Amino acid sequence: MLIRKTVLIYFCLLFLLFSASAQTEALSKIDIPDLQEYLTYLASDELQGRCLGTEVDGLEITANYLADYSKEIGLKPAADSYFQPVPILHTLKSTDDFIEIKNKKGKLVYRSEELVKLNQTTSVFSLSREPVLFVGFGDNIELIDIKNKVVVVAQGSADSFTNTENFGWNRQLENRKMNAITAKSPKALLLITNPKDRENKTFKQLQGWLNRSGYSVRGDDNSSQPAVIVATAKVADALLGKKGQYEKYLKDVSAGSEAIPEVSETLSLKTGSEPELLDEKNVIAYIEGSDPVLKNEYIVFMAHYDHLGVGKDGDVYNGADDNGSGTVAIMEVAEAFASLDEKPKRSIVFLWVTCEEKGHFGSSYYCDHPIFPLDKTVASINLDMVGRVYDGPRDDVWKDSPKKVKDFDGLYTLSNDVWPELAEINEKYCAELGLEPDTSLPKARFLRASDHYHFHKNGVPILNYATGYHADYHKVGDEVEKINFEKIKRVADLCFLVGFDLANKEDIEF
Ligand SMILES: [Zn+2]
Repeated sequence: MLIRKTVLIYFCLLFLLFSASAQTEALSKIDIPDLQEYLTYLASDELQGRCLGTEVDGLEITANYLADYSKEIGLKPAADSYFQPVPILHTLKSTDDFIEIKNKKGKLVYRSEELVKLNQTTSVFSLSREPVLFVGFGDNIELIDIKNKVVVVAQGSADSFTNTENFGWNRQLENRKMNAITAKSPKALLLITNPKDRENKTFKQLQGWLNRSGYSVRGDDNSSQPAVIVATAKVADALLGKKGQYEKYLKDVSAGSEAIPEVSETLSLKTGSEPELLDEKNVIAYIEGSDPVLKNEYIVFMAHYDHLGVGKDGDVYNGADDNGSGTVAIMEVAEAFASLDEKPKRSIVFLWVTCEEKGHFGSSYYCDHPIFPLDKTVASINLDMVGRVYDGPRDDVWKDSPKKVKDFDGLYTLSNDVWPELAEINEKYCAELGLEPDTSLPKARFLRASDHYHFHKNGVPILNYATGYHADYHKVGDEVEKINFEKIKRVADLCFLVGFDLANKEDIEF
């Protein structure tokens, strides 16, 4: 009996030693010359700052580079290929918008080129000689039949109209109003800014925010949503047939009148332009878990591979730290996992996402269209800027930020509260590597600040590693010469150890 027990203990120890040495060997695959080679290329002028809209398609080149690398080290493609297509719409500022009011004889009484389309519906929206229906501030919308009608509603509330001179845009109030109205399927919603705002400050502000060219992720199908258009009180006056009439009408509404004005004028308008569709991509590769059951659970390592492109003056934003550093760290973490003879029980996913800088497009698209189920994703570990170490005065610009760049041992490790044990596991391996985890960043703000947000929003436990802001953040000075490769290696080592632990853990429940 005693002998058998001893033998058992011996074999256990042998197994531990063996797996420890397997881990040590895997960690040796994460090496500085590789990190230097990859980052020197990815952060070179040749790739023009890895961004949409540059002459050379640096995003495409980077995506291919990461896919070729994944293949070379033996990772599996997540789908038919290593790419997940991410459809991006490039909308140009439209040049032929107009809004027109005609009287019942068909005579033009008002025309302007100034209107703002507030929501993302069909790219071009137009109306031709439609009758309109005034609904005050939208308070009694439940009682009015607005289906298929063009509804005119006032910005703000009866209370704010009467009692304040604040014409600012109350996003919460307006969203609530718009949702209540559009839920009743009108043809369109025309939202009129406050007539007391004589200089149309709020309208001009909205114009500045929304009438620009820009990029967005193509939605699944929102074309059935009615369009929401914002215009000034001049349009409402023209519909009501007289200058000042709209303000008078709102005074009556505020005083309790429920009368709906009869309007014989009709409305025509056109807004928006046909966007260009861009085929961008996330790169996704994985190592299948060795356990027949647990292989259906996933650890996701993530980094965005895009940056800011080329400036107006031709300077290239190479983004060596942001986020070349995270991109290459994950390349090496992948190599370490790929080198293991016996693969971990759970599957390990390497997700390089596109267009973070434009608004987290790649990660939000992935979370809306996950290749690996999010409820089977036990952790998403996001690396965004892990390559700089504090070295004095040049970091002064961020001295008041809670996330100023760390010294060689420090590391921001942000987690959410979905599965608190994840933070403990992280701390254990930080200690093993001599890293000092800083968990003090305000979560409300920093959980939203990078790609991990979309996993967090979907209830996935997240970790985010970062070395912090430095004076070259989002500047042309974010160059490879200023990167501390030993620091990147320490972060990559940490990723491997945490990932290895998570991937082999018996029961994970949250
Ligand atoms: Zn970044």
